[in-house]
Amino acid sequence: GQRGYAFLALGNDPISQYYKNHPDDYFEDVEKTYIDPKNPFVEEFQVLAMACDRPISKHELKEHQEIIEHHIIKENLKIFNNRIVPNFDKINSMLNEYSIRGIGKSIDIFLSDRKVGDRVLPIALEELHKDAIYFLAGIRYRVKEFDYPKKNLAKLEKISRDYPYYTKSLTEEWPTIETVFEKRVANGVEVAFCKLHIQKKVYGYVNIELGQEITQGEKVMLDNPLEYDFITKGIVFHAPRPLKVIEKAEDEDYAEASGYHATEHVVIEGSNMITGGVSQDLGGISLGTSGLIFIYDGAIGGSGASKALYDRFEKALERSMHIVKECPCKNESGCPRCTFSYRCGNNNEFLHKYSALEILERINKGEKTELIDPTEGDRPLV
Ligand SMILES: [Zn+2]
Ligand SMILES: [Zn+2]
Repeated sequence: GQRGYAFLALGNDPISQYYKNHPDDYFEDVEKTYIDPKNPFVEEFQVLAMACDRPISKHELKEHQEIIEHHIIKENLKIFNNRIVPNFDKINSMLNEYSIRGIGKSIDIFLSDRKVGDRVLPIALEELHKDAIYFLAGIRYRVKEFDYPKKNLAKLEKISRDYPYYTKSLTEEWPTIETVFEKRVANGVEVAFCKLHIQKKVYGYVNIELGQEITQGEKVMLDNPLEYDFITKGIVFHAPRPLKVIEKAEDEDYAEASGYHATEHVVIEGSNMITGGVSQDLGGISLGTSGLIFIYDGAIGGSGASKALYDRFEKALERSMHIVKECPCKNESGCPRCTFSYRCGNNNEFLHKYSALEILERINKGEKTELIDPTEGDRPLV
């Protein structure tokens, strides 16, 4: 055969930096496709779609029995000749409103009174709040009006091509564990895969200059913060305390909380290589100085991304340690190639590289921790 060359253009991010230092891993890493067939919100429509395609026999689909019964009670499905068939009178309107782009409620996007697209919640709140810069087909627009939760629409306006900023929302999130599905010990750290209730608030945004190195910007508060809460799936683990860094720190709480926050960022980045996911699929919350770190599916109901991370957690923790350890930056807070994250809802503040490194080294050495209950006083960093 012919000799061929492949080129990989590396970016200014943790994953690029990792592959620069470990090029062999690039060829070894297999992207694991993930899916969550038990997402309850998708399952509801999926079962209806199956019934429309072909009647469901009564002994079929044991794993979806609960949803089938729910639809029969709601009269969306009915029993006919011993088989389960759709009740089109009831479900036609449901199917007409169904969007294949995402499940749940969405925001309609308008440009000069014409609908040009839609975006699902909750991500829509972060991208379409008033004055957000929104990318549509490669062009940037500004959101001039955002009507939520009443009309669920956003109106865009044109901006000049040389407008120097894009926006990144500032968010606050609070997680509650609803059900623990599974628990195990990774290295020495106890980790649980759970059903989570996430309360989310978008309270402002920052303007970030296009092409800027540092992903921090000038803060603007929204007059009306936007709130949303949803059910999803995710993991929680208890990170060990970075005692050496704490001992030397001027502000102990800052160094500790910032270490957990940075660890949360890096584990999400590290998991990208392991799960083949994109960081938009996952959200993260580190709870103050408690050491509790939550990483969850950004899509309501769950996408399977955090389960893929749960199954290969040790490897993600090892990659994370390498990302921080091998970054040549000397900043206490780190840089876009290690601790910073484009999806940070805290303007990449409260990050401590050396604290995160100690935490990740302790985890990889097998230090033991057990899960604890969250306490109200812990400030959540996302
Ligand atoms: Zn760095
Ligand atoms: Zn963050």
